Amino acid sequence: MLTLQCPYCGIDAEETELHAGGEAHLTRFGPGSSDDDFEGYLFMRENPRGVHFERWRHANGCGKWFHAARCTNTLEVFGTYSAQTTEPPEEIHKILAKKRPGWTWRDLK
Ligand SMILES: [Zn+2]
Repeated sequence: MLTLQCPYCGIDAEETELHAGGEAHLTRFGPGSSDDDFEGYLFMRENPRGVHFERWRHANGCGKWFHAARCTNTLEVFGTYSAQTTEPPEEIHKILAKKRPGWTWRDLK
């Protein structure tokens, strides 16, 4: 079972206490954007077998949204962090560089 630590209340929450919110770090496109950008924002999601950044809500706890970096293949969790970020924090970059050498995602290295 997937267990994630809520970065706000510090509790190790099992998957049944959480609500999945899909891919994290989406670039939002709204009025004035091109049809392709808006369609991509609404419908196109990554679904990797491996490292992924996701939104989760501690639904049966503090109720706050946060982000998690984890491997969808092994369920290994690299860390959780505030949802008030536009990209993973530096500590997550360091953990991924150590545990998944050579892995890249978008402009992250
Ligand atoms: Zn919480």
